[in-house]
Amino acid sequence: MRNARTAKPARHHLELPAPAALKKGAMRITPLGGLGEIGRNMTVFEHEGKLLIVDCGVLFPEEHQPGIDVILPDFSAIRSRLADVVGIVLTHGHEDHIGGVPYLLRERADIPIIASKLTLAFITAKLEEHRIKPQTRQVREGDRIDAGPFDLEFLAVSHSIPDGLAVAIRTAAGLVLHTGDFKMDQFPLDGRTTDLPGFARLGDEGVDLFLVDSTNADVPGFMIPEEDLAPAIDQVFRTAPRRIVVSSFASHVHRIQQILDAAERHGRKVGFVGRSMVRNMGIAADLGYLRIPDGLVVEMKALEKLPATDIVLICTGSQGEPMAALSRMANKDHVIDIGEGDTVLLASSLIPGNENAIYRIINAFTRWGANVVHKGNAKVHVSGHASAGELAYCYNILRPTAVLPVHGEWRHLTANAAIAMRTGIDEKQVFVVEDGVSIDLVAGSARISGRVAADHILVDGTTMGVATEAALTDRRVLAEEGTITVLAIMEHASGRLTEPLEFFSRGFVEEAGWEKTAAKTIEDALRSAAESTSRNREDVETLITRTLGRWLSRRHRRNPVITTIVVEE
Ligand SMILES: [Zn+2]
Repeated sequence: MRNARTAKPARHHLELPAPAALKKGAMRITPLGGLGEIGRNMTVFEHEGKLLIVDCGVLFPEEHQPGIDVILPDFSAIRSRLADVVGIVLTHGHEDHIGGVPYLLRERADIPIIASKLTLAFITAKLEEHRIKPQTRQVREGDRIDAGPFDLEFLAVSHSIPDGLAVAIRTAAGLVLHTGDFKMDQFPLDGRTTDLPGFARLGDEGVDLFLVDSTNADVPGFMIPEEDLAPAIDQVFRTAPRRIVVSSFASHVHRIQQILDAAERHGRKVGFVGRSMVRNMGIAADLGYLRIPDGLVVEMKALEKLPATDIVLICTGSQGEPMAALSRMANKDHVIDIGEGDTVLLASSLIPGNENAIYRIINAFTRWGANVVHKGNAKVHVSGHASAGELAYCYNILRPTAVLPVHGEWRHLTANAAIAMRTGIDEKQVFVVEDGVSIDLVAGSARISGRVAADHILVDGTTMGVATEAALTDRRVLAEEGTITVLAIMEHASGRLTEPLEFFSRGFVEEAGWEKTAAKTIEDALRSAAESTSRNREDVETLITRTLGRWLSRRHRRNPVITTIVVEE
């Protein structure tokens, strides 16, 4: 009987050793990102001494990671083998699937990129900004190509960006299907549904391992179709008394198409705001993925001259990214001044981790008198990922032997595993693992084979992997506690202080006069230390920093970052 079974508690596999050299004829699958998090998706396939990469994305930092721009997958497991890489398959053009490519190509620029037309256009434009001209290989659904020893077949999938592909990978070891990101919208705007007949055909052939998107596995039932958002969007346009500002991902071509269609119906003109929005919509329109009626989209200068009732602005920043147009408008730090009677439409998802930033924006706009419409109060967003019901259909159509849930936090991976088991897949064949755990496929049979490094690589400005967790801890302490610099002038020969200690503080808050007591405490410590040890400059610096730190912590419950500079005379 197929009873509902609950998935076992998450298995960490923290103690696993590095995998042994891969046996002849076997295929190794190593996820380097996207398992245990939403973002920086990347999986490496190894067979006959060659590597194939599927996706190479970024993860966006959270509030506790100040100053970090993006987080990359850890390339250290493949760094010494970049010459063996036969290609990078990009399943679709979202940042969490393509954003890491420029950093990987910095290490080897001529790795061929294999992707659909729109995905290639997006990644090529991105690489141009990094001054990299990639080698590309365009594919479409139905294509079957060889990349080294990997036989690849591409299948159409529906998602929140056009031209998404799933990829079937055949080797002597077996058949693997990777969905990329997908959902099963039966009425997508472009009529391009997820290729369920293709899935069924692969199911008949026998899928040995199924890598499947988990993002919405804990959402019950089925997603509504994209086109069902039209009435709610229309309602916004019908009732908005002044300007309408729409925020969406710069890649959500279908959502933006719906906004353009509504603008046309209601006689408004549209302006695109933000570099990535302007660039991507230009590409999508040029390639025929976005239909822009003549004269609908106008330059910002022309738009500003129109009455407020005729204006629609489409901008980025739907996740509350501080530098994006939407955040700056909310902070009154943008030429577009949102106020009384304006309508702000957040036609986008709420990615876990971004909640605070988004609610801050909603509150700010509301305070300025704007009406904010979002997925919490109107049907203006539908997710791009298959929910539990759709996943169940998928498992029943494919009947895979083994399953590796990908793309999700632990709760999503575990929920996806539970659905797989409920459809009858053997519990031992459902691998809930995290980044770095490798699975070997030998003659169609999958098992865990080891673990490689899969750390978060932090990118700060243009430096990659230099910022560390320790640096982030310092930044958090600086933000909460401030900093104190102590300057001490010391006579080299005697080690005695020749001037009173000086304190310089930033962001450190304490009652006036604390420096006097602090100086006395430090001087006492120096005096008693002098009797027992000889001292050099570094020792004195350490002693001052420690003494001050201990005193502030005990007496004032403060832990600022302390820097001591000793100058010898
Ligand atoms: Zn996606």
